[in-house]
Parts: sequence; C-alpha cells; structure tokens
Amino acid sequence: MALAALLLLPLAVSMRAGVRLLRCSASSRGPASRAHVGLPKGVEWGRQYHRPASGAASGLPPQDKPFTVLGIETSCDDTGVAVVRSDGTILGEALASQAALHEEFGGVMPGVARDAHAEALDRVTAEALKRAGLASVADVDAVAVTVGPGLEICLRVGCESAKALALEHAKPFVAVHHLEAHVLMARLAAAEPVDFPFLTLLVSGGHCMLLLSRAVGEHYVIGSTLDDALGEAYDKVARLLDLPVGGGGGPALEALARDGSAGAVALPVPMSRKKNCDFSFAGLKTAVRRAIEKTDDARRAEPSFNADVAASFQDVAISHLEQRLRYAFELCEKAGDEWGCRPSTLVVSGGVAANAELRRRLQALCDATPAGAADGGGDDGGSWRLVVPPPRLCTDNGVMVAWAAVESLRLGRSHAAEGRDVRARWPLGPSIAQLTGEVEVPPKGYHARTAKVMRAIANTKPGKAEVDADQPA
Ligand code: ADP
Ligand code: MG
Repeated sequence: MALAALLLLPLAVSMRAGVRLLRCSASSRGPASRAHVGLPKGVEWGRQYHRPASGAASGLPPQDKPFTVLGIETSCDDTGVAVVRSDGTILGEALASQAALHEEFGGVMPGVARDAHAEALDRVTAEALKRAGLASVADVDAVAVTVGPGLEICLRVGCESAKALALEHAKPFVAVHHLEAHVLMARLAAAEPVDFPFLTLLVSGGHCMLLLSRAVGEHYVIGSTLDDALGEAYDKVARLLDLPVGGGGGPALEALARDGSAGAVALPVPMSRKKNCDFSFAGLKTAVRRAIEKTDDARRAEPSFNADVAASFQDVAISHLEQRLRYAFELCEKAGDEWGCRPSTLVVSGGVAANAELRRRLQALCDATPAGAADGGGDDGGSWRLVVPPPRLCTDNGVMVAWAAVESLRLGRSHAAEGRDVRARWPLGPSIAQLTGEVEVPPKGYHARTAKVMRAIANTKPGKAEVDADQPA
C-alpha cells in the first residue's frame, strides 16, 4: 500500500499542477475536460513543489543601492510588464488584457491567447519602460518572468522574450512562480511591513488554497479546493447568468450582486459539516444552476432575479471562506508550537481578492477575532491583521513578477537564463504535514480516482496537448 502510494506520487504531483491550465480550459464550453487531469484540485501532496534555487546563477544586481527589475507576465490571458525598484516603488507598468478577445469564445483559447501575447509583448514592454522613464532594457538591473504554472504555450512567449532580453543585455535573470508572485504582492503593497510568517488565502481563477507562508520560497499547503477554484466558480455562475466572462466573470457578477438580495435564493454553504481547511465550489455552482432551472419563467423574467442569484451565490461563497478561515485561525493557535511559528496576519491574494464584498467580510472576520488569541493584532481590536493588495494588483500583472524577483534577488537568488524552460505544472509547496513530520497520506478516495486518471491517460493520444492548444478551452 505504502509502495503504491510512493509510485503514484509523481503522478499526483503532475496531475495537481495542471490546475491552472484547466482553469483556462474550464472557462469554456469546449471539448477540453477534466479527464486529462482527473484529480481534484485539492491534491497538493508531492515532491516537486516550488523551491527557489539557492545562490546566484546569473549574477546579482548591485546590492548597495536600490536596483530595478523588469517583470513579465504571460501565464494566461493578461500580458503584463512592469519596472519595480527594490524599495517597492512601481516605476512603470503596462497591461494588455485579452478580455475582449476571449469574450466571443466564452473563455480563454490557449492558441489565441498565445498569439495575442506574442503580438502585444514588445509593445507592452516598451510602454512599461517608457512609463518608468527608461530608454531600454539596458537601463534595468535584472529581468524576471513568470515561468509557471500556467498555459505552457503562453508562458513560453514571456519566457523566451525575457531570456533573450537578459542575455542580450547581460542582466541577472529570475524565473518566477506565478502563485508565489500573488502571495508576495502583499508585501509590496501594504502600508505597514508584512513580515513572515503569515497565513495566505490565495483565491484566483485557477487556485483556491490556504497556505502557511514562512519565507520567500517556503509555503506549506494547509488546505485547497477539492474541485473548482473560487474564481472559476464566479466565472461559471457569471456564464449561467449571461454576464460578460472575457477576462473573468467575477467583476460583472460582483457588480450585479450589489443590486440583489443575499439569501433571496436558498443555497447550501459547501462542506459546512466538515471541520477542515479544504474548499469546494462545484456543488455550489450546480446548486445555482438547479435553482435557476427550478424557477418559473415569470420570476426569471423579473429584473431582480439574476441580481438575487448573484448576491446569494456570492454570500454563500464568502460564508464558505469565512468558515474555513475560522478553522485555519484555530489551527494556527493550536499548531503554532509544532510549526515553530504562530502567524497572526492573513494575506488574501489572487484575482478574486479584488472583490470588495469579500474584502469587507474578511476584514470584519479579522476584526472580530478575540484580541490576544494570536501575537499580532489588527487595528480594530481583532488579533488577526488582514492584508490585501489594492484591487488592480490582485489580478495578474507585471508588478507582481518584478516584485517577486526583487524578493529573490535580495536573498541572493537568481537563475540561469540559458536553457530555462517553462513549467506548466508547478505546485507552490508541500502539505503542512511535511512541516510537522507527519507522513503524507493520499486523500480519502484517492485510489479510486487514480485508477480513473490512469485510464484517462491510457486513452490520451500522443500530441493531444498540441491539439488542445487550438481548441476552445
Ligand atoms: P489567474 O487565475 O489566471 O491567475 P487572476 O489571478 O487574475 O488570474 O484571477 C482571475 C480570476 O479572478 C477570474 O476567475 C476572475 O473572475 C476573478 N475575479 C477578478 N475580479 C474579481 C472580482 N471583483 N470578484 C470576483 N472575482 C474576480
Ligand atoms: Mg493569477
């Protein structure tokens, strides 16, 4: 049994890491399906998690004065470039969104997204440099790029461009993990310093997880979604309500929810009887669909109906987050000694963290934590402090890439540009069980799912990935 688990470990790792690609796949009605991956998004255990290389593989910028980094992001459907100084000043940034492009397909088409990145990247880079007051890449001190996880063919556009720029101008190069860049964004944007350790709630289109963030490059997974990510659920419900979904349906659904009444449509809070830190949103999305289908035509035609659905969905989705966070706060209190640290700051990052209602509710949750339960302290009496980047820096952008590289370079870490390839699948960190020395065991029901996955893989024809690149995802 133990041997079987060991043999299946690399499979689980590569399966899990495909989530981001699936997020983009899932945001369409095309033929690409979960069958290529098969495992729930909650399967986080494995060995190939993110560990930054130690030492400077491609040199370091001068450390005796502030240095500048050019950061490039092309992992999904936003072409983002920024120049950030090591003291946290954003010197210049530019972003080309593909929202309009993907709107007509009802989701991200990987092949279309790749071509759009290729078309936009030089222009966006030039714009970011211009806004930073720099003439060319020769004027920055290092070049950084997201190398994973994400859509492989999109990642490669940014990676190849960044490598060429770093080599041409003999600049240090940093390969950035997209999810870590979201996490570290909180340390750039906060008014007060955000020191490690902290608890991170990462909520994006492809991921939903709770992490113990102990240091740059050291994040442990406390819980993650068993099925859909929160952003994915927003996107799917937005589609059910015929809202615009290009670039993600979250903003449109949030706007509509403002006109609705939370609770007007009865929906169950997911996993409300399960006391753990995992998430699930697939059942909630199905419940929304059923509620719409069950409603008679007259009520559905009322202008308030869609707004009520949106408000009810959002309310229940956030209630689910709140419940998981309460367990996480409890866990931090109890397990602090074992972990060797007791966080008292909650960082919320990723695209969905731009949501104003989510920010308001999680602020209230932190303010209501009993003072003294943890070390830190929120401003309004709670023991937990909430840190969320400004909304525009929650969704994918070049600033987060440049800043993640600043964090690495300050620690003396850079990477060799030559030969660097992208990693479409790349877990951020191991399970928290590895920190406490517990043996990681496969999640319940894992073996049955693994058998299904292996059957799916056996049926996958070679070259399928390339074919998928040109299918609606
Ligand atoms: P990715 O998941 O590709 O890394 P982001 O981190 O930018 O991309 O997250 C995009 C996701 O965030 C989408 O699912 C989008 O619907 C969601 N999102 C963005 N803004 C909001 C919002 N205001 N409310 C809810 N969801 C949002
Ligand atoms: Mg993202």
